[in-house]
Amino acid sequence: MQPAHQKREFSIPDHDVVVAGAGFAGLYLLHRLRELGFSTRVLETADDVGGTWYWNRYPGARCDIQTIDYCYSFDPELETEWQWSERYATQPEILRYLQFVADKHDLRRDIEFSTRIEAAVWNDGTSLWTLRTDRGQKITCRYYVMATGCLSMPKTPDIAGHDRFLGEAYFTSHWPHQGVDFSGKRVAVIGTGSSGVQSIPLIAEQAAELTVFQRTPCYCIPAHNGPVPAHRMTELENDRAAYREAARQSLFGVPLAPMEVGALQVSAEEREAHYEDIWKAGELLGIAGAYADIITNATSNETLCEFVRDKIREIVNDPEVAETLCPKDFYIATKRPCLDTNYYETYNLPHVRLVDLRKHPIETITETGIDTTNASYTFDAIVFATGFDAMTGALVGVDITGSNGLTLREKWSNGPETYLGLMTTGFPNLFTITGPGSPSVLSNMTVSIEQHVEWVSNCLDDLRKNNFEFIEPTRTAEAGWVQHVNDYGAITLLPQTNSWYTGANVPGKPRVFLPYIGGVGPYRGICDEVVERGYFGFVLEGPGKQSCNDGVIRTVQPDVAMVLDMIEALQWPRFETLSVADARAFAIETLTGRPPGPDVGECNDGTLPGAAGELKYRLYRPVSPGPHPIVVYFHGGGWLLGSYDTDDPFCRDLCVQSEAIIVSVDYRHAPEARFPAAPEDAFTAVQWVAKNAASLGGVPGQLAVSGWSAGANLAAVVCQMARDADGPAICGQLLVTPVTDCDFTRESYTNNGEGYFLTKALMEWFWDHYADTTDRENPQASPLRADKLSGLPPALVVTCEFDPLRDEGIAYFEALQAAGVKADHLPCRGHIHTSLTLVDIVLSSADARGAMGRALGGFFSDQTAV
Ligand code: NAP
Repeated sequence: MQPAHQKREFSIPDHDVVVAGAGFAGLYLLHRLRELGFSTRVLETADDVGGTWYWNRYPGARCDIQTIDYCYSFDPELETEWQWSERYATQPEILRYLQFVADKHDLRRDIEFSTRIEAAVWNDGTSLWTLRTDRGQKITCRYYVMATGCLSMPKTPDIAGHDRFLGEAYFTSHWPHQGVDFSGKRVAVIGTGSSGVQSIPLIAEQAAELTVFQRTPCYCIPAHNGPVPAHRMTELENDRAAYREAARQSLFGVPLAPMEVGALQVSAEEREAHYEDIWKAGELLGIAGAYADIITNATSNETLCEFVRDKIREIVNDPEVAETLCPKDFYIATKRPCLDTNYYETYNLPHVRLVDLRKHPIETITETGIDTTNASYTFDAIVFATGFDAMTGALVGVDITGSNGLTLREKWSNGPETYLGLMTTGFPNLFTITGPGSPSVLSNMTVSIEQHVEWVSNCLDDLRKNNFEFIEPTRTAEAGWVQHVNDYGAITLLPQTNSWYTGANVPGKPRVFLPYIGGVGPYRGICDEVVERGYFGFVLEGPGKQSCNDGVIRTVQPDVAMVLDMIEALQWPRFETLSVADARAFAIETLTGRPPGPDVGECNDGTLPGAAGELKYRLYRPVSPGPHPIVVYFHGGGWLLGSYDTDDPFCRDLCVQSEAIIVSVDYRHAPEARFPAAPEDAFTAVQWVAKNAASLGGVPGQLAVSGWSAGANLAAVVCQMARDADGPAICGQLLVTPVTDCDFTRESYTNNGEGYFLTKALMEWFWDHYADTTDRENPQASPLRADKLSGLPPALVVTCEFDPLRDEGIAYFEALQAAGVKADHLPCRGHIHTSLTLVDIVLSSADARGAMGRALGGFFSDQTAV
């Protein structure tokens, strides 16, 4: 928590709130804040309302979310007073709508047009923001809200000679109000993002010649504009409130049911038919939501990429042009796809040509046209559709100085840091509507704007009611949120693509995945939870008072949270409440339909002699030619559940990652065979594998052990037994979230004993079935309790942050190190006991699995067999 400001003064400002921008966000903010009785002033650079819809007047400019969704929902009257003429309304119609809203609610009287905020300075002495405008005004306010839009700062042209051209030059982002007539002209368009795709067909209708300069092709699907589809209109009209609420709780801000299956879980025919439906539906969000895994699984994604490429090849007559228009180096929906009207068809027109800048980049713009590396082109007009300094450009474009003298531009020099995309530390009382770190551009903007406007205005109201006049996120909360935003991005394909989502379109901009991809409904839930928990993660101050409930609002990895939510939704019974037989049956049931894990070269089942009868095993062989080192693996399941094949996807993954043979062996289970049956079997199995290494395709002497949970307990125990028995030689132990002790009092049991699937109660149940209290302290049950840990093979101990077993895993690692064993520790932040084995489900554990595979490889290459 930050120190309280000792003598914070709260001077009286000119206005309670100043809002920058009179687009969708600024207008609604003004209305809301006025309703709540805050004196509010909106400052707007343009000479009228509209924001992005004021500036972007290029031919073909339309929304790409259906207009019945891309509109306000706060005013029930407005819903029926305004009727959209088209499914995707044009820019003039959307602008008229915003003007209508401004008139209806008499908003203009509190908006100062043709006024740009140039600088804003926080004064810690008065607890006020002082704003300086380009008209020389100095305005003070208690709260300053940037409603400046995510795509409002055009990218500075980064093409040599861009100011040399003596003909007409236009920017789609600042189109002349009187329009442009291209009739009879030779026109160039640079850029094939949404703005280029929308304008190119219409410019082609007028121009004598049109040359499109394309650096990166985009994925477009046809908009099929026209009337709003009847079924959607009916849905809306049947129950407007329910429709709007469904949008608020949805993933993308439009009430579309999410797909629950992955693209590869259906047949190729079914998939193709589904993609045809998406193509016919003409809805942008249909692409990102085509299948549950379209933005997380590269192979699934590629099926849709290829479908769209085939469509391009069908539409465009010239195969070479078609191929140039096919995106090949990024996954679909990892940057915003485009909705088009006759875009690809335009390239069949005789006066339209496409220049592939990947083959022949622009060298310079000249007085008369454009020179690429292999040709000189002459034009009457050049249209720059080259995009925006998105999400942060408009925010750092104002010279904003916070409480510690740092500017926002300086603070964000390595990428934006925000709490919830709403506020940033060091800049008290400054709010950003749809700021970086919020769903914003990954959603129907109007829904996200309304949510932020309502959150901010309710917050100001709460502050006032409670006699607070100061709010600022804590560093802990902000760092935690930034981490969460990154964690979410990392389980998708989006950060891998060069796009404006990552800042990659602007030279020199730090590469950071800017929006929050957790979905608007879940995000709304988080923002509400922050409020319910007393503005969790914020410092609040008022005359003579301060309050702070500090912490990180989301700590569990996002995909782990999804697994936990699913378990809760399915109301899985708690294992410890079942009979052992029912628990075993249920454990098997939970495996149904799980992803199979990666392919291996070969997978065989066999039997080997255990301490008291035969044991089954499954052998996984790498694809590469052998012989290979061997890892004997012991499955998890609390010594009661599971078998040699229940960790199948994990074993496959270990095999692929380590390039080693994995032999997953069974062992006798409690309660039928209590301690020490399991370690006896485990040791006998290792002895047998060591002896038969060559016939299994292994390299004799290159033997490691591994296991997960209770299996990791056995792996650790076997290493001690092998040391004490002078063999077999084991060159490494990979212990994944091991049970190493029978003590339930460690902090991780206290903190993680409930709510993270493996509970304290379940561990007690396992131990009760496995070993008598007197046996539990035996090192063959609790390897941490061994008198001697020296002389053991090198180890990698993997622990998970939200695992009750975390601390005993750490204790074992530390004890090994203290005993001189070469030991490493891999702590997995935000993970639970089961995270690592959920291959292709918990994607965020993939890096850790890679590290485990490398560690196994390292054991063998070190050749330090003990
Ligand atoms: P954009 O998607 O960033 O596209 C800019 C285009 O210009 C890209 O093709 C880019 O190529 C190219 N470009 C930039 N600098 C270049 C250079 N130096 N040399 C050659 N080519 C260059 O920008 P946008 O089309 O304005 O769209 C931005 C976003 O605004 C959209 O994604 C969308 O969210 C929103 N928008 C929405 C609509 C709508 O339908 N409602 C319409 C317009 C815009 P590279 O990709 O190789 O950098």
